[in-house]
Amino acid sequence: MNNFLCPHCDGNIRVGDNVIFKVRNKKKQSGLLLLSPQIGNYTSVKHPSFEIMQDDYLEFFCPLCNSSITSDIHKNLAHVILCDESGKCNDVYFSQVVGEQSTFTTDGESVHVAGDDAGRYTYFKIGDKFKKYF
Ligand SMILES: [Zn+2]
Repeated sequence: MNNFLCPHCDGNIRVGDNVIFKVRNKKKQSGLLLLSPQIGNYTSVKHPSFEIMQDDYLEFFCPLCNSSITSDIHKNLAHVILCDESGKCNDVYFSQVVGEQSTFTTDGESVHVAGDDAGRYTYFKIGDKFKKYF
């Protein structure tokens, strides 16, 4: 089983078949959002009372330590750590813009890109730290 870890506290944020996040929408309302542990699967689960608009920007937080997990690469991308059964870990970056499907997985050497909208974060739009991968 792949484990998902918070980059700040190393806590496990995967429970069963969900990766659990605290998110805050543009209206500054907070809720819990459950995402699939499958890279490239953009289904999500939330409580119906928590409103998410199309094109909303969600800030993602670790539900354990409450740290923002917005990446230092791009403000639209959140950062988590994915560790496989052998203990090999990769950095995963995914979009915090609702409806935008872009996920990047990197081991520091190469980048695996998933999602129809990943092209929005091309060489020119992302920070220097990520540019070396393209
Ligand atoms: Zn944490």
